[in-house]
Amino acid sequence: MNSSENFADLALSELLREEGFACSCGKHHKTDVKDIIIGSGVLDQIPEQVRKHGGSKPFLLADRNTFHAAGEKVVSVLEASNIPYSCYIYPQEDLEPNELAVGQAAMNFDVTCDIIIGIGSGTINDIGKMLAMISGRKYMIVGTAPSMDGYASNTSSMISAGIKVSLPSACASVIIADLDIISRAPMKMLQAGLGDMLAKYISICEWRISHLITGEYYCEQIASLVRRSLKRCIESAKGLAVRDPEAVKNVLDGLILSGMAMGFAGISRPASGIEHYFSHVWDMRALEFNTNNDLHGIQVGIGTVLALKIYDQITSIKPSREKALWHAEQFNLEEYNSFLRQFLGSSAENLILLEQKEGKYDKDKHKQRLETILQHWDDILRIIKEELPGQKEAVDLLNEVGAPIDPSELGFSSDLVINTLHAAKDIRDKYSISRLLWDLGELDMASEILA
Ligand SMILES: [Zn+2]
Ligand SMILES: [Zn+2]
Repeated sequence: MNSSENFADLALSELLREEGFACSCGKHHKTDVKDIIIGSGVLDQIPEQVRKHGGSKPFLLADRNTFHAAGEKVVSVLEASNIPYSCYIYPQEDLEPNELAVGQAAMNFDVTCDIIIGIGSGTINDIGKMLAMISGRKYMIVGTAPSMDGYASNTSSMISAGIKVSLPSACASVIIADLDIISRAPMKMLQAGLGDMLAKYISICEWRISHLITGEYYCEQIASLVRRSLKRCIESAKGLAVRDPEAVKNVLDGLILSGMAMGFAGISRPASGIEHYFSHVWDMRALEFNTNNDLHGIQVGIGTVLALKIYDQITSIKPSREKALWHAEQFNLEEYNSFLRQFLGSSAENLILLEQKEGKYDKDKHKQRLETILQHWDDILRIIKEELPGQKEAVDLLNEVGAPIDPSELGFSSDLVINTLHAAKDIRDKYSISRLLWDLGELDMASEILA
């Protein structure tokens, strides 16, 4: 018998085992999350979880909304169990995961506390994981909304010196969420959760395409894990509109699993693709120019629809070596960098530096990729067919729950969307659809589709 194990069919709780999984991809997959408790009324289990994880005095971190949603309950169960605690509630309405917020948490931290309990979703969890890493304490998250996939990840999406960055941080030992509370989260956060899950169609598709073209590491078991959980989400997604607890649980499970899948793979591939880079671009512009932006998952949902729109048209492309080489020959990196600086402001510098290291616009590297693309064009089309739903399916689902589907709903013009598609190539050193289109000299075709 093969020494590797099949874990793609296991339930979320079964993936937590201490020894992890020896995988046929050659990696050993393991998560730092020890307990996941999701259900009605489960916050009563916090005292026993605190003790189980070696805590005697928790430090609670919340904002005013999340404290109201779940913090009061956390306080009451701790008091009922005679567990002492300290608490910091952010006074500001618009909390951002930046130096100020981490500084506030650190300056108000009670050093006699031996475990940190974050109470919230995206922002509080990102800050809580940072505080846990800095203070060397264990971390528990009491989720208040199924809005993003960072619950089980060991990185934090932060804003440093006004620029969006992903920083290494602690991973939650315990994720606990009361379904009664998260089902009552603002509807926009439920919509965002669905958006961040729909993104997984694109992420898995692009991961496979990149594996084929660049030889990047890929694990089929992790991909199946994410696919299966996405399927469950989609099947019940309509129920989100009426806050059906089963639908909410499927989204939350899917988001937690996606975070875990990224940890298993050691890269963000299982959970993010071009749709996430669209969202990053909009966040970068918001920081730089004060333009509109929205919740991560809302933007990612819109990005997914845009990506599917492009993928729907891919079959109409007849790849041409001459056309691709001509386009690469015409490309002027200096001019392109000025576009990035004008479009993204100071945060363009990081993208320009990344290209100096990566050299994706290098003409020889382009030629090599192009030959692989031409040779495997049918395989690329097959992967797209296997992985992606039509654009209409995603639009109908988002419509069903009342989520925005069109960039114009965020006030974005088609010119801005086209520029976003171009800049999305440069956000990370990862192969995505905008890179494939550039390699083929077909980026203008895609721009016309988005116009
Ligand atoms: Zn694997
Ligand atoms: Zn996401």
